[in-house]
Amino acid sequence: QYVLRNDEILPRDLVHIDIEDRGYQFGDGVYEVIRFYDGKLFHIEEHLNRLLGSLSSIEIALPLPVDVMLSKLQELVETADYKEGKIYLQVTRGVHPRIHSFPEGVPPLLIAYCSEAKRNFEQLDNGIHAIAVPDDRWLRVNIKSLNLLPNTIAKQKAAERGAVEAIFVRNGIVTECSASNIYGVKDGSIYTHPSNHLILNGITRQVTKKLAKQANIPWIEAEFTLEDLQAMDEVFASNTIIEICPVLSVANVPIKDGKPGTVTRELQKLFSDKIARFREQ
Ligand code: PLP
Repeated sequence: QYVLRNDEILPRDLVHIDIEDRGYQFGDGVYEVIRFYDGKLFHIEEHLNRLLGSLSSIEIALPLPVDVMLSKLQELVETADYKEGKIYLQVTRGVHPRIHSFPEGVPPLLIAYCSEAKRNFEQLDNGIHAIAVPDDRWLRVNIKSLNLLPNTIAKQKAAERGAVEAIFVRNGIVTECSASNIYGVKDGSIYTHPSNHLILNGITRQVTKKLAKQANIPWIEAEFTLEDLQAMDEVFASNTIIEICPVLSVANVPIKDGKPGTVTRELQKLFSDKIARFREQ
């Protein structure tokens, strides 16, 4: 396995992280997860834009020019012996004796590597179940920061209860899930939380919004409660890895008849068509 460290691609055994890397000690950094299909990076521009936004909001500079990073990422994918997978990429503020404030003159550290990820047809076809948990994260979750402790705890609770996702609820309002965005469909319209500081504006969410527009499905960004969500005709979740995935029950309440809904299926088809066209490009 190969790893991109700043602008160098190296065998994994040669890459070591310092005990005083600020990502390790403070979670002082940001990350992205980028899909590739047929060895090609999917929605790379959107991921790069979000990365740059996350970095600038916590005042970390990208340690190499964007175009160089892009060609290195492509090169990295070519080192993998599979065609369908994901890149995990993170940038931390770098290495410095431990102080809370931002140290000066320290180069940031970028790390990226690939792993295999096939499309999960089991979940895409059959759907998943979700629990609900209080959203006890900080108030700037639009930044894709490394601080994922509330998300890992939420996901663990879901796993313990036989579910795949945990839906965050803040002050009675559904925000998103531990690792995905969440949507309800009612009377043919899609409802989802507005993209502000209380959710991560998923790249898949942005794509879903475009697909909904294409298909003339009304898209409504509004606040709704857990009870509202449980009373929807359909619920689905989205992220880069699970794509658009039906949610069959929310906190033990089945959604309608507990089967994937027609709007969800239509969006899934449009998304799959998009991937098929992308593969052929
Ligand atoms: N919300 C959270 C908290 C996430 O961690 C993720 C991705 O993992 C998403 C939403 C969806 O983002 P994307 O579609 O860019 O993968």
